Amino acid sequence: MQVFDMIINGKPVRAGSTFDVVNPATGEVFARVQAGDVSHVDQAVAAARTAFPAWSRTPDAERKRLMHALGAALEAHMPELMELVTKEAGKPLGGLNGVGSGMEVGGAIAWTHVTADLELPVEVIQDNDDARIEVHRKPLGVVGSITPWNWPLMIAIWHVIPALRAGNTVVIKPSGLTPTATTRFVELANAILPPGVLNIVTGESGVGSAIAKHPEINKIVFTGSTPTGKNIMQNAAGNLKRLTLELGGNDAGIVLPDVDPKAIAPKLFGVGFHNNGQTCACLKRLYVHDSIYEEVCAELARIAKETVVGDGLVEGTELGPVQNKAQLDFVQELVEDARAHGARILSGGKARPGGGFFFEPTVIADAKDGMRVVDEEQFGPVLPVIRYSDIEEVIARANNNENGLGGSIWSKDHAKAAELALRLECGTAWVNEHGAVQPDAPFGGVKQSGLGVEFGRYGLEEYTSIQTLKIMKA
Ligand code: NAD
Repeated sequence: MQVFDMIINGKPVRAGSTFDVVNPATGEVFARVQAGDVSHVDQAVAAARTAFPAWSRTPDAERKRLMHALGAALEAHMPELMELVTKEAGKPLGGLNGVGSGMEVGGAIAWTHVTADLELPVEVIQDNDDARIEVHRKPLGVVGSITPWNWPLMIAIWHVIPALRAGNTVVIKPSGLTPTATTRFVELANAILPPGVLNIVTGESGVGSAIAKHPEINKIVFTGSTPTGKNIMQNAAGNLKRLTLELGGNDAGIVLPDVDPKAIAPKLFGVGFHNNGQTCACLKRLYVHDSIYEEVCAELARIAKETVVGDGLVEGTELGPVQNKAQLDFVQELVEDARAHGARILSGGKARPGGGFFFEPTVIADAKDGMRVVDEEQFGPVLPVIRYSDIEEVIARANNNENGLGGSIWSKDHAKAAELALRLECGTAWVNEHGAVQPDAPFGGVKQSGLGVEFGRYGLEEYTSIQTLKIMKA
């Protein structure tokens, strides 16, 4: 059994006790990690605080070089990291439309290199005979990163690399459900970075809230559920921490009547079900025009029934298990609620007996606004399909949700679709696509899906504060 240590100030640290990490495909323990507590948070923050002055003054070109070295280390350990991600998160090595742990580790590598090359140059606002005014971007100090279980390594990279690139030091806490790939990454990174620059504390007993409250942490970057995000915001108020909060989503997609149902169904299925629907910006509510409703539903159900569900380590698996039992039970509860309220379950609808947390890919027709599976984030392999006939009305229905992460319009008429997409209340709107992110385009939620953005220059700026320098010449 592999046992993972925390890394604090460049050294492995044991907590005295460990907790189990379960492979959701088998329900069996495959690794143990340290059950760290608040005292380890204090140690890690002290190490990060001590490392900050030298790291923040390290020449930019050197920090950039070290970030590329981290990308190379990820690449050199790709098969090992993929296996850890598949074992802890359940996602297949390959996966539906190539969305699996290969994409997760490959994405982590790509994000690292692209972010390494981002620049935050000094901006000159005024330079005349009277004065010169410059805007500088300075690192914030110690960044606390708290990550979820659905894309454990990718999201850790999304937090850690821009924070370090901008000159901050970091304490990361991965989800207790999926701590292994992140811990291994931090181990690899500590062979490259100076001690204390990147520290990891694992453990669930108050570790997250200790990070949120810690007076020596200057910023929190959090990806996870909206209720936890709100709690972090309250706890972070003590020293007015800067916050980036990437929270829950309940993304709507609207299919206009001009599409070909057969051609579009595989794309819709892919963006709704990849990673078993356990992606913040998966398509989670699908509104289809009345004229093609039955045909789209039938195609989606056909694809769902043909999808290969199984252990992610087995080649050819398209969808793995749901990541944990509580999430599996929640998904079942939402499906039963829909059934009880008159929805038609066209495929799946139930957990698979035996070991592991498997749920059959489920397409729900005659779903309606007001049903829990439509109004709440299901975060599982279940797609409710809702009928509409009037475009004005469906835009209002799509927007009538407290979340605002992503949204999409599907149509052959790109100009009309773009016009409608801009009316969706969400951080990213796609036309004929959903959930696709890339390292140079900003991504974030509006309404209760979060605060701030990640990726590209806009994302990098969130790890800095502005210092304005005014030099009088007269
Ligand atoms: P979660 O909120 O339960 O947990 C996320 C992390 O927060 C874990 O590390 C957990 O241990 C920690 N945590 C729990 N309570 C805490 C507290 N009081 N203070 C500080 N930390 C605490 O979320 P989850 O179930 O792991 O992830 C699923 C959710 O994440 C979904 O809602 C999904 O939409 C969202 N998500 C959002 C994005 C995005 O970019 N917007 C990306 C991925 C996932």
